[in-house]
Amino acid sequence: MTVRLLDTLSGRQRDLVPLEDGHVRVYSCGPTVYGPAHIGNFRSFLFADLLVRHLRWRGSRVTWVMNVTDIDDKIIRGAAAAGVSIEALADRWTERFLADAVALRMSEPEVLPRATRHIEEIVALVEILLDKGHAYRTDDGSIFFRIASWPAYGKLARLDPDQLRVGERVEADEYAKDDVRDFAVWKGPKPGEPSWSTRIGEGRPGWHIECSAMAMKHLGPSFDIHTGGIDLIFPHHEDEIAQSEAATGQEFVRTWLHCAHLQMGGAKMARSEGNIALVGDLLDRGISARALRYALIAAHYRASLSYTDESLAAATAAIERLDAAYLALAGYHEDRTDDPTLPAALETARTAFGAALDDDLNISPALAALFDLVRDLNRRIDARTMSTADADRAVAVLRDLDRVLAIGPDLEAAALEPDLQALVDARAAARAARDWAASDRLRDELAERGIVIEDSRDGQRWRRSGVTSHA
Ligand SMILES: [Zn+2]
Repeated sequence: MTVRLLDTLSGRQRDLVPLEDGHVRVYSCGPTVYGPAHIGNFRSFLFADLLVRHLRWRGSRVTWVMNVTDIDDKIIRGAAAAGVSIEALADRWTERFLADAVALRMSEPEVLPRATRHIEEIVALVEILLDKGHAYRTDDGSIFFRIASWPAYGKLARLDPDQLRVGERVEADEYAKDDVRDFAVWKGPKPGEPSWSTRIGEGRPGWHIECSAMAMKHLGPSFDIHTGGIDLIFPHHEDEIAQSEAATGQEFVRTWLHCAHLQMGGAKMARSEGNIALVGDLLDRGISARALRYALIAAHYRASLSYTDESLAAATAAIERLDAAYLALAGYHEDRTDDPTLPAALETARTAFGAALDDDLNISPALAALFDLVRDLNRRIDARTMSTADADRAVAVLRDLDRVLAIGPDLEAAALEPDLQALVDARAAARAARDWAASDRLRDELAERGIVIEDSRDGQRWRRSGVTSHA
C-alpha cells in the first residue's frame, strides 16, 4: 500500500515515504486554550485523527504531537477578565478540550506539549536565529524575524514577499520593527503581562515560534506531516517554515495538510462570527457523540463542510443503520454451512475502504464501501444464507474498519445496567411462557427507560433508543 497525500506546499499529490521507515511523525496545531474549542476546531483535529488512525491501520507506527497554546494575547486578556492566573485559565480549558476529544473519540496524541513548558526550547531557537542574523532586537526587548533575510518566505502561501502584510494593520508604532512584514518571535515585557526572565531577555514567546520549537523538540528538525486548518497557512505556518528552516538549514516538514473550514449558517464557524457550536452543548442536548463525529469527518478534509440540522440528521441515520447491523449480526444464529460468497464480499469491502483512504483520505468512497457492505450483510441476514460463524466474521470486519472511523457501537457501553438487564430477562421469560400481557407491559416499561425491544427470528433483542445514547 502507498498512502498519497496532497501537499499544500508543492501543490502536488505525493506518496508518503516516511523519513524513518515504518514510522510517521505528525504534528498538528492544537487548541489555544482561552475558551472551549468549537466543532469547527474539532473538524480540523478529527481530520488529523482520521489520518493517524488510517496510517496505524495500514501498519505504520505513528508519533502524533498536538500542541496546546497556553500563552497568547487572548489567554492573557481572558485570565485578567476572569481574575485568575493564565495557568488556571489554560488548565481549565485544556481539561475541557481533552474531555471533548475523548467524547468525540479522538485518539490521544503521544505528546500534548504546552508552550509555557517549552520556554527553554523557544529561547534556544531564538538564539540561533539571532546568531545567524535572521532575527533582531528592538528597543522594547522584543525580537523579530527578519523576512528580508529569508528569500523563500511566502512559498507555502504562494505569496510575493514584497506584497506581504501590506494593508495589514501591524503594531508598527508599538514595536519599532525594521520592516512592517517582520513578525515577533519574542515579545518584550509589558506591564500586567506574564513574562519569563531568560538568556534572550525578559518577555514571552510569539505564537509562531512555539510551534516550531515544540515540533522540533518532539519530532526532530525534519518530520513527515504537519496539519492544521487552512486559516493557519498564512501567516502561522509560513512563519513556522521560515524560522525553522532558517535555524536548521533543513527541510522542516515533508507534507503539509490543511483542512477546510466548517461552515454554519452560511459563514465560517468562528468565535468572531458568533456562530459557534460547542461539543458539550450539543451532547447536553442529547446529540450522540458518534453522530457528531460522523458529521465532522464525513466530508473530504479539503472540501467545505456545512454543519446543519440536516447533516446531523443524516449522520444520526447512518449511525443507526450501522448499529442495527451490529445488533442483527450479534443476535444472528443459523446452524448451517458457511456462506461461500461471504469472504470475497468482506475482502472487497475492506480493499475498497483502504484504497479510498490511501487516496488522500478520500472519505466518501470509504464510507460508501462500509455502507454497501452493511446493505449486503442485511440482505444475507434476511436470506439466512450465513452461518453463525459467518456473522462473527462480518462483525470482525466491521470492527476492523472501525479502528479507522471510530463510529461503531461501544462494546463496553453495550452492557445493560443490572436492573435493566433483569427487566429484559423477565420479558424474554414472559415471551417464552406466552404470557403476552406481561411481555407487553415489560416492553413498555423498558421503552420508558430508553431501551427498545425488538422481536426477530433470532429472538428478542434490545437497543438504546435514538439520540439519548452517548455511547
Ligand atoms: Zn501551530
